[in-house]
Amino acid sequence: MLDSLTPNIEARVDNWGVDETKTIKMEIALKNPDKYGAKNITLEIHGALSYNAKIPEIVGESEVPIQVVSEVRDPNSIINIDIVYEGPGGNITTKSYQFDINIKGYELSKAEGTEKCALCRGKIFKDTDMVTCAKCGATYHLQCAKRVGKCRICGTVFLLE
Ligand SMILES: [Zn+2]
Ligand SMILES: [Zn+2]
Repeated sequence: MLDSLTPNIEARVDNWGVDETKTIKMEIALKNPDKYGAKNITLEIHGALSYNAKIPEIVGESEVPIQVVSEVRDPNSIINIDIVYEGPGGNITTKSYQFDINIKGYELSKAEGTEKCALCRGKIFKDTDMVTCAKCGATYHLQCAKRVGKCRICGTVFLLE
């Protein structure tokens, strides 16, 4: 009977940011809107970063915030979160979430020829490599983006190799 009682944990990523040391800080909010408590919760993050946490119990609607601080391992990857937990009858549930946030902070493309560089103010010539800030849309020569390391308009860090 208790085997059919399956708590339903939900996860949400909030308030994330990357600094110049390639460290990502973010908050994962977990909640269990089901009336049955979830026990022995294991949170595992892989992909863009690597992180593990254990939470004894989550009961009720109120969100449980998990503060994650980790080195970015792969700026081009997404964040995969696997949550494993136990229901009241000891039954195990596994849930997976993917968060496709732009950790590297930019998009790389070829210029149209109409853009200007936010660092040196120069024209970005057609078909040359251009970096566009993922947050504010400012454009840079690739070399200028490498030199400045982060968007000088909005402060977003560019994780360029
Ligand atoms: Zn430039
Ligand atoms: Zn920006």
